[in-house]
Amino acid sequence: MTLTTVHTVADLRAQVSEWRAAGLKIALVPTMGALHDGHISLTQLARTYADRVIVSVFVNPTQFGPTEDFAAYPRTLPADQKILADARVELCFAPSVEEMYPAGFATRLHIDNLTDMLCGAARPGHFDGMAQIVTKLLLQALPDIALFGEKDYQQLMVIKRFVTDLNIPVEIIGGPIHREADGLAMSSRNRYLSPDERKTATTLSQVLSSIAERASRGDAIEPLLENGRQQIASVGFDPVDYLEIRDAENLELLHGKIDRPARVFVAARLGKARLIDNMAIIPANTAL
Ligand code: AMP
Repeated sequence: MTLTTVHTVADLRAQVSEWRAAGLKIALVPTMGALHDGHISLTQLARTYADRVIVSVFVNPTQFGPTEDFAAYPRTLPADQKILADARVELCFAPSVEEMYPAGFATRLHIDNLTDMLCGAARPGHFDGMAQIVTKLLLQALPDIALFGEKDYQQLMVIKRFVTDLNIPVEIIGGPIHREADGLAMSSRNRYLSPDERKTATTLSQVLSSIAERASRGDAIEPLLENGRQQIASVGFDPVDYLEIRDAENLELLHGKIDRPARVFVAARLGKARLIDNMAIIPANTAL
């Protein structure tokens, strides 16, 4: 099959109904476009579960704050379509803002607790907007499964929460973070980096992996985090929004020695790009 692109919910639903009538299993991978290999790692994972893969491409205005990069966010649909065709994705759903938020639209979603910290604290309203658009996409496509990257780990936890809470009949699957050869987590926002900043950006994953390794071995985390913050700031990240270690399931802030599956999270700005990354901490004495 070749790639088909649709721009309306009606056309999306017509295609999904046809596949469903044929008994095919359907996966959805929501994206904001400016596609890279991280996105494609999710479509490849999707392929291991499903017969048909849909990728949505939509830069969702309601998840950007007033001072954020909504206007500047890269929109590269023709290049994205080529990447999706090469990856043998069957359907691209690329709606307009008016299609997703027609006149009179008035519904909001808010998820408590999980959205108070990390990117929720640094980007007020971000997760409400994300939940709003992901809920719409899930209900519009009604796939069997939907895939999201651990790159946005907090987002994945928030999505699992509201999909459970709202009984949305879609299985949510997380995919591992896809990285550049030097460790930088792939991101559409990496294209904001100058060549020098791109070299500097690798510090983020280096600091995370050193913290993750030492925390897994049982070192107390406060000095590791203090050291890490200094290292990140010293190469030019400003501000460092957070560098924290939290429980991998409920995102509770952890202290001292890590005795359960955890994650180290970072967000920091380098020039025009706000970069985020995270890594697993699996304590050496934990049976998995
Ligand atoms: P975005 O287009 O940045 O909103 O990302 C769309 C989806 O791709 C989200 O579920 C992201 O978590 C996921 N994603 C983005 N970058 C990566 C990456 N480097 N590795 C794995 N998944 C990613």
